Amino acid sequence: MPEKQNKGGIVSKKILVVEDEDSIRNVLEVRLKNCGFEVVTAADGEDGLNKARAEKPDLMILDLGLPKLPGEEVCRQLRNEENNVPIIMLTAKTEDVDRVVGKVLGANYYMTKPFEWTELLKKIYKYLDMEEQAESGPAPSPEA
Ligand code: CA
Repeated sequence: MPEKQNKGGIVSKKILVVEDEDSIRNVLEVRLKNCGFEVVTAADGEDGLNKARAEKPDLMILDLGLPKLPGEEVCRQLRNEENNVPIIMLTAKTEDVDRVVGKVLGANYYMTKPFEWTELLKKIYKYLDMEEQAESGPAPSPEA
């Protein structure tokens, strides 16, 4: 499948955010959109897996603790399907990282919540192979 390209324009990368906590999901969606990304969201693992298959995002931000299907299972299934989308995993606890890394799930990076937005953004640019861009203006607050 050819990648969509705008001649001479900016190709907007698509990021799938799978997170069941509304506040985190909404903040990520708003901030990522403000950075020019196309954003798709899912609030549980099952929906996240379906959207990863259907939307073919350029990168996924995947929470570990999710309803219906845990993040580690979403990750495992995608890798089993030879889907190599970069995955940044969010975990609530450091112990989770040890547990998950021990299983060698195939996620590219792990961040423990609460995470630094700027740190996450750095990793996003890294895995998308994009140059880091300076954030313009103050961080937006999520819209109600
Ligand atoms: Ca969660």
